[in-house]
Amino acid sequence: MFLRKSPWIIHYDATSCNGCDIEVVASLTPLYDLERFGIINMGNPKHADIFVVTGSVNPSSSAVVRNIYDQMPNPKVVVAVGICATSGGIFRECYNVLGGIDKVIPVDVYVPGCAARPESIIDGIVKALDILEQRSREFKKLRVESQRQEKKLRRYRLND
Ligand code: SF4
Repeated sequence: MFLRKSPWIIHYDATSCNGCDIEVVASLTPLYDLERFGIINMGNPKHADIFVVTGSVNPSSSAVVRNIYDQMPNPKVVVAVGICATSGGIFRECYNVLGGIDKVIPVDVYVPGCAARPESIIDGIVKALDILEQRSREFKKLRVESQRQEKKLRRYRLND
């Protein structure tokens, strides 16, 4: 519940032409006001809940995308913004392009467009909030269950 009301996002430009990045920034400005959902764009993956990626991946950027994703705590959600991040887009057949972001990390929401419009980006991030909330509930359940199992195990050990 709290996570949904104050999620933090981290934005990374994998190999974008900058078109989608400008739209991501525009969606954070007072005109489109993504912050009304309590969302803050921040630079530290360790504090981020939603990973917003623009552009396709190449051999250099794929390592960075993976690294950012691995540093984010669970539960986390990935949003691929623009057709390049979705499938490689117009660069898909370039010699150094591996494809969309899902070649490297699992993607939860795909935002179409070239460039993706701020309205679509906001829509995609709101969808990501639903997924984040659902995942957060599942995580809580798993944590409670694992704590219960741990207590049980401790009790068995004490009785031995
Ligand atoms: S989808 Fe279009 S605007 Fe966005 S990064 Fe690719 S080429 Fe640029």
